[in-house]
Amino acid sequence: MDLFEYQARDLFEKHGVPVLAGAVATTPEEAHNAAAKIGGKVVVKAQVKVGGRGKAGGVKLAENAEDAKAKAAAILGMDIKGHIVGKVMIAQAAPIAEEYYLAILLDRSNRTFLVMASVAGGMDIESVAHETPEKLAKVAVNSNEGISKELALKIVKAGQFPQEVAEQVADVLLLLWGVFTSEDATLVEVNPLVKTSDGRIIALDGKITLDDNADFRHPDHEALVDHSATDPLEALAKEKNLNYVKLDGEVGIIGNGAGLVMSTLDVVAYAGEKFGGVKPANFLDIGGGASAQVMADGLSIILSDKEVKSVFVNVFGGITSCDAVANGIVQALEILGDAATKPIVVRLDGNNVLEGRRILTSAAHPLIQQLDTMDGAAARAAELAAK
Ligand code: GDP
Ligand code: MN
Repeated sequence: MDLFEYQARDLFEKHGVPVLAGAVATTPEEAHNAAAKIGGKVVVKAQVKVGGRGKAGGVKLAENAEDAKAKAAAILGMDIKGHIVGKVMIAQAAPIAEEYYLAILLDRSNRTFLVMASVAGGMDIESVAHETPEKLAKVAVNSNEGISKELALKIVKAGQFPQEVAEQVADVLLLLWGVFTSEDATLVEVNPLVKTSDGRIIALDGKITLDDNADFRHPDHEALVDHSATDPLEALAKEKNLNYVKLDGEVGIIGNGAGLVMSTLDVVAYAGEKFGGVKPANFLDIGGGASAQVMADGLSIILSDKEVKSVFVNVFGGITSCDAVANGIVQALEILGDAATKPIVVRLDGNNVLEGRRILTSAAHPLIQQLDTMDGAAARAAELAAK
């Protein structure tokens, strides 16, 4: 999960990384009050999970609370690279002397952690990385050893930081390493890390990505989730522990096993070309245990998607045999009752397929159509969706 800047700021503060006062606001009035509380000059910053806000006009200096209100009114609602600004952060303004760059990330290809450091931080760090890569130090960090003070100083030196800030920047790097490890992050980036005109080192803008696989260790991370950005059907699926991803087509898909579901999406998209470009409406992997309840949960989520015109259930019986899946489908339709309204094309194969098909045939449910092959079923589902 990517965090908003204000959330990163709060985590920095929690771990002792030097930051300035900041508060989040969703209206110009709230921005006014936050600025008045902070006092003096402030910066009004768009809170969107995308970089380059400064260049897009999403970061504005304000002289006082009244000005902060006006700047917030201009920034709220702005479209930054497709992200609509719904919140701003009001931050105490800093007198900037220099802008640096520090980042710690998970380097998957080298199976290690990586620190990137540069004296040439700020809004042009991408072009620094491109055009003068020698100004961006990259130092691998052994996950068992972590970052010692000695290594931190070495990294700061490699990043060509001036001697007079080396000690302070190294200390900030150690604190950032603390954020990275104790919050289970995969990215902690500070750009800019600034030296103020009175010589202090402050993290002015932070980006943090948390490792969702470690959520179980961090019950407090739940509060950081941006529910407004989650698709309501995906949220519902998550509640039911279903592996569901909303797409924008018309054929609802249920399958077992990620590989089978992925190839089902492909064959449906391919078959759909003959029917005016019909496409799969979702990814849904019901996994190994296709019980009636799991099937009912999956079907009910798919059927509540207004775009869906037909459903394709594509199951290869393995540990869960086809007869169990067939019974699951029949019982799911009983559970759903009148809520089931769209045609359902079923293709069963694998373990105990004949019994599975027999169960569906004898149930003779008016919504169910059975086909024996994946291609045939995909074509039928696409055809029904196109009607
Ligand atoms: P980004 O463009 O999305 O990375 O947003 P940043 O938070 O990094 O802000 C962009 C730029 O705005 C920074 O590089 C600074 O030059 C400037 N900026 C941000 N905060 C302040 C501040 O408190 N005072 C001053 N003078 N400039 C700031
Ligand atoms: Mn930045």
